[in-house]
Amino acid sequence: MPVPSINQCNMANIHSFESLAAVDGEGIRYDIFFTGCPLRCAYCHNPDTWHASSINMSAEEVMKKVIRYKPYFRNGGGVTFSGGEPLLNADFINELSEMLNKNGISYCIDTSGSVELSSAVMTAIDNADMVILDIKFHTPEDYKKYTGGDFEKFMSVGRYCTDNGKRLWLRTVIIPGINDTVEDIKCYAELVKNFKFEKYELLGFHTMGFFKYENLGIENPLKNSPAMNHEKLKDLQNALNTFLQNNRTN
Ligand code: SF4
Repeated sequence: MPVPSINQCNMANIHSFESLAAVDGEGIRYDIFFTGCPLRCAYCHNPDTWHASSINMSAEEVMKKVIRYKPYFRNGGGVTFSGGEPLLNADFINELSEMLNKNGISYCIDTSGSVELSSAVMTAIDNADMVILDIKFHTPEDYKKYTGGDFEKFMSVGRYCTDNGKRLWLRTVIIPGINDTVEDIKCYAELVKNFKFEKYELLGFHTMGFFKYENLGIENPLKNSPAMNHEKLKDLQNALNTFLQNNRTN
């Protein structure tokens, strides 16, 4: 007899929850980190989300945890689905979304976009208040080299959000010696010029997750890389803002 998949049962494997978070979306967030990711980003600071944890929960069980934080979701706050890759759990998100909707709670999806645009994924995006999309590398070659993934998938998610008027934020992690030149930044601006998005934020590579590689016994491909310099990151963010502005006015 075939064994039902986790999603057919609308259960999800959860890595952890973070209450009263403030960075992954607007207002006060309740972050739900799923396990499982199709990518292996060289700079990943959450390699502990790659494989299943012991927390396997139904949408109803997760909803019971979320509802306690409803009073904090005023001023645009809500749930953020993160990971790992949250859109691997689109059926689960869609079931939970109905419960969130009944309780007037919105959600945001923080995704690498490294998934097929299945009908479940499109529904999860359609019902989201907002999508935060990682723009990891600006060429298919580097995308493959540093993440193992398919460049075209996240581009499809970006286009889908744009075509459907979904609120979109973009993010890129800047790594010293890999994608930290002004020329790189210009290429990122060019890559997203047909996306409609509210903001595009550069994040500095940091070394705070290095201990996880050691604990898990996983080779850390960037173990000799320094953290990104804050001043240089600010300069690159300013350069990006200028390139984006120029693209809009051209
Ligand atoms: S998509 Fe996120 S969780 Fe997955 S490997 Fe990349 S950085 Fe890590």
